[in-house]
Amino acid sequence: KRKPLIAGNWKMNGLGSSAPEFVTVIGAYMGPMRHAVDLMVFPPATLLTSFATATRGAGVLVGAQDCHPEPNGPYTGDISAEMIADAGGKAVIVGHSERRADHSETDALIRSKAEAAFRAGLVAIVCVGETADEREQKRAAAVVGEQLQGSLPDAAKAENLVVAYEPVWAIGSGLTPTIAEVEEMHGFIRAELAKRFGAESDKFRILYGGSVKPANAAEILTAADVDGALVGGASLKAADFLAIAKAA
Ligand code: 13P
Repeated sequence: KRKPLIAGNWKMNGLGSSAPEFVTVIGAYMGPMRHAVDLMVFPPATLLTSFATATRGAGVLVGAQDCHPEPNGPYTGDISAEMIADAGGKAVIVGHSERRADHSETDALIRSKAEAAFRAGLVAIVCVGETADEREQKRAAAVVGEQLQGSLPDAAKAENLVVAYEPVWAIGSGLTPTIAEVEEMHGFIRAELAKRFGAESDKFRILYGGSVKPANAAEILTAADVDGALVGGASLKAADFLAIAKAA
């Protein structure tokens, strides 16, 4: 009943010369695939406008990898949710673990970014996930629970918020949790959403992210409470990204 969502996070990769990869994705998506799955691509901000123009009407949504909480102002180097919408973006990733770690982003800041996304009419993909140490200490659920509590706005609805569970140790490492571990965490996240948002919790999409590839996509995407994937490295190649989307 929840339509799967496959989202590609290009991170700091991609130049104008990468456009053909994206155009290949659009071309494939315009076939029967679009009935089965939603696709989003998050290029670097420099490519947002050209990707939004390329996909116009084709159904693949584009978005940005971060936003500032304010609509405008003296924040050198930042972009606002309103600017993302103005460039043709429909979504924004907030709270990715690389930003939590490299830019010291707190749950409170991430929540304000998600609120900014709603204000601008964007879907927010809020990322959560534990480190290897936290999992070893059996604190994974506690950490993710606290991140959800702090990062999700009260105004979150299934149509404007997606949760992405990305264990930090699985990102770019080739390592993945077992399917049982994925199902346990996704079930926990669903239960936390139910406590906070009641009946609406059934409608939220919860993505798994971290070393998703064509070879493991089918197994991960058919796990209970997994409603799609947030794909990093494998989203840079159209063939790999489309193979993952077909597995959904
Ligand atoms: P990889 O798919 O490269 O492991 O990255 C996952 C990720 O961080 C997506 O946001």
